[in-house]
Amino acid sequence: MTKDKFKVSVVVPMYYEEEVAEECDRRLNATLKEYDYEIIYVNDGSRDGTLPILKGIAEKNKNVRVISFSRNFGHQAAVTAGVQNSEGDCVVIIDADLQDPPELIPDMIKLWQEGNDVVYAKRKKRKGESAFKLLTAKLFYKVLDGLTETKIPRDTGDFRLIDRKVADAFNQMTEHSRFIRGMVPWLGFKQVPIEYIRDERYAGETKYPLRKMIRFALNGILSFSIKPLQLVTKLGILTLLFSFAIIIYVLISKFTGNALMQGWASIMILVTMLSGVQLIALGVVGEYIARIYEESKQRPIYIIDETVNMDK
Ligand code: UDP
Ligand code: MG
Repeated sequence: MTKDKFKVSVVVPMYYEEEVAEECDRRLNATLKEYDYEIIYVNDGSRDGTLPILKGIAEKNKNVRVISFSRNFGHQAAVTAGVQNSEGDCVVIIDADLQDPPELIPDMIKLWQEGNDVVYAKRKKRKGESAFKLLTAKLFYKVLDGLTETKIPRDTGDFRLIDRKVADAFNQMTEHSRFIRGMVPWLGFKQVPIEYIRDERYAGETKYPLRKMIRFALNGILSFSIKPLQLVTKLGILTLLFSFAIIIYVLISKFTGNALMQGWASIMILVTMLSGVQLIALGVVGEYIARIYEESKQRPIYIIDETVNMDK
């Protein structure tokens, strides 16, 4: 393949995005018109006007393809479906809400033509996000960095360009809990950042409320690290050391004739504290077992209900 004559695929997940779908399509087509391209919109089970709008767009524009899920399978599954069904020599993953500016794509393509296999967009600044989101995001990437062996770049979402060979390797990863911003770095290849300013959402509300955000963050840590399990062992050793200290204290008190404390309070504190520690440890182990269980079912990552302009 030459990198002068190539096709670019753009994958856009959409979940209740009727307010942004048209503007997103307009800006993508305006940016991509000088290339041979396809845009794959993945409707992740929205029941609003998103799918009818996408169908209307695809009818008029043969570069546009639509995949529609049977229900909501989540952002990461939607991106996966898009990448798996893409044909381009490079594939761009981008959010629908225009927080990731489509106008950055030509610069990403240039970096790709210079021989880079992955161009990931790094947020230099984020507009219109709450102080809480900025702080928690910062904290999350720090914790993730400390816990994982895969070098997962900070301040980087899923907005990125990947070469065909990276996409093919990515498509071999069959895991169920998908944390794409970790999976792509794991693959290796030549990866470079490109900095950008993250805009505000064009319209509508975030589809990642706090609960989903926490689940997503935990999923990232659990998918990429077994350190929480090792931490549990360390916690156990620490509590054991603590109990040795108490034993020594009790023995010394006994042999030096010092009266020991009356028992009730100390026992209550120890019992509740230790059962707390044990339940947390069990919970951590449980999280990993639950994931083994989920993976062992080997269900498909998503179910497609219908497609438009997809001949495969
Ligand atoms: N999205 C999706 N399925 C979901 C949640 C979100 O396909 O279950 C899409 C959404 O339409 C958007 C992208 O994922 O294109 C990122 O979501 P959003 O902008 O709401 O997240 P935020 O930028 O607030 O983190
Ligand atoms: Mg967004």
